Amino acid sequence: MLRRVHRGFFVFFTVLVLFGASQACAQTAQNPARLEVDLREAPKHIFHAKLGLPVSVGPLTVVYPKWIPGEHSPTGPIVDLVGLKITAGGKEVPWRRDDVEMYAFHVDVPAGVDTLNLSYDYLSPAEPTGSRERPSSTAKLAVLNWYMVTLYPLGPKTDDLTYVAKLRLPAGWKYGTALPVAKESPEAIEFAPVSLTTLIDSPVISGMYLRHIDLSPGQAPPHTVHVAADGSAPLEATPVEVQHLRQLVAETGALFGARHYRRYDFLLTLSDRMPPDGVEHHESSDNRTEEAYFLDPELFESSELLSHEFTHSWNGKYRRPAGLATTDYQTPMKGELLWVYEGLTQYYGIMLAARSGMMPPRMFREYLASTTAYLNDRPGRTWRDLQDTATATQILYSTPPEGSSWRRSVDFYDEGTLIWLEADTVIRKQTGDKKSLDDFCRRFYGGENTPPKVVPYTFEDVVEGLNEIAPYDWRTFFTERLKSHGPGAPLGGLENSGWKLVFTDTQNEYEHVNELSTQDIELQFSLGVLLHAPGGEDSDHILDVIPGSPAANAGLAPGMRLIAVNGRKWAPDILRDALRQAKTSKDPIELLAENGDFFETYRIDYHGGERYPHLEPISGKTDLLSEIAKTRAPAVPLPTNY
Ligand SMILES: [Zn+2]
Repeated sequence: MLRRVHRGFFVFFTVLVLFGASQACAQTAQNPARLEVDLREAPKHIFHAKLGLPVSVGPLTVVYPKWIPGEHSPTGPIVDLVGLKITAGGKEVPWRRDDVEMYAFHVDVPAGVDTLNLSYDYLSPAEPTGSRERPSSTAKLAVLNWYMVTLYPLGPKTDDLTYVAKLRLPAGWKYGTALPVAKESPEAIEFAPVSLTTLIDSPVISGMYLRHIDLSPGQAPPHTVHVAADGSAPLEATPVEVQHLRQLVAETGALFGARHYRRYDFLLTLSDRMPPDGVEHHESSDNRTEEAYFLDPELFESSELLSHEFTHSWNGKYRRPAGLATTDYQTPMKGELLWVYEGLTQYYGIMLAARSGMMPPRMFREYLASTTAYLNDRPGRTWRDLQDTATATQILYSTPPEGSSWRRSVDFYDEGTLIWLEADTVIRKQTGDKKSLDDFCRRFYGGENTPPKVVPYTFEDVVEGLNEIAPYDWRTFFTERLKSHGPGAPLGGLENSGWKLVFTDTQNEYEHVNELSTQDIELQFSLGVLLHAPGGEDSDHILDVIPGSPAANAGLAPGMRLIAVNGRKWAPDILRDALRQAKTSKDPIELLAENGDFFETYRIDYHGGERYPHLEPISGKTDLLSEIAKTRAPAVPLPTNY
């Protein structure tokens, strides 16, 4: 009910201000907005900005970007826009925040004024916060997303607003971006005039320790990874890693057959001071992961981050669900087709990681086993279908882990993977192995090479596109899976591709790597708990308890803190050992837990031992999964110099 009321207000408000806004905005390509950003205090987590906005006399509404592309949510960090002052001809011009829409500021442009000068700061969080807002700088690097430091007049399409940006960096810092540079001096980088859409779609990575690696030497368009870290050692990618990254570029060529960018720049931040994340752009991507990404082979081999974000250039940026193809950053987005936007990207993210050699076949199968198992076990699917996880995206990204098996989260990523795998196997079956999902991609996302542009699509377009490759009742295929309340996840693709989910007492390798970086201990398939290991902020915390599991039946609940296992201070190894001991014992496992100010011992009558998910071949069935994950493009040689 609250959301309906809010939306009503929003539409009313937008209609009201549009009329006024279009009158006082005087921005044209010949008379662009001029934005100057100063990152010299980025190590202190403050970004300074000045904006010269061409205007004409009358009422004007300027807005701070609210709906952030790629985040599919109203996550523009308005709370950290501070110090706003507006002047014209040296005199202060008063502003008034809209009393309903917090992202809007109303101004009356005085007579005789043709430019408003706005100055303001953006406060980047120094540490991760509870919201989706991420730290954007450390002492030695910064990632500038222009939406954090941009205001714009409400009314025109952002395609029609021209911005000229200038950037100052701390002394000695280098940078990388897909944004075209007009000129560069030791003082500042001046970028070429671009639309506000292109500006916001082109973040800049910068830092004291930064290197550029060419990922398609001698070829057009150019592909580069710009790596920034908090020191120089993490920048040392091995020849094999660079070879795999170059193979990734080649594999996307083989898959899509066309590119829709003038250049592609992977911005890669390797820092343990920033939470791992990835946001896609048309000609670049903002990728953040562990400092040891290039140094620890397990981290590199278990990550589909770069292949996922790269896939988005085709699926998400070039072709975009109609509900997400908005013309400014204030119009609400509709996430209903995110199972295509993110689901198909997740599928090809791991397939391309496998095809390029980044993710070895063993790790690839462990990844699939892990995601399949948790989805299959979600009791939340009895009330929330997959479609609702997409429709409700804007409220699901920042949900806490407590209760997530009952709430469900943005499951359209991983469950999308299973559904698209099944679609792939159906196409192969229907066409007698003559066609595959790759053919759909080539037709739907490929075509001619073009500069960045957006071609929206609907559910009908997806159904039609698949029918052109393999006639089938695709409407029913997707509707059944999107509206299903279980039991279990859609496992048809796994089965059709020759594999089944099994559980053994050997830890899943993908989950093992994940555990090392997150300290999250996955015992979901035995006791039914997910907990955080001792140490750090969430120390000893029970993150989730699966309803109906042995732990839930014994009375444990998310939010409690684990203190002791069978009378001994708990640690992950102690708990795992207790699981092994209980296999041959009739005694329950005793867990002492703290619930607020109270302590209680919970007796779990569980004797099944450790259980971790893996994939096992189905005997007599063709291994289609390995065939789908096979390299397509000619092999890229091992580089000797890069
Ligand atoms: Zn994505």
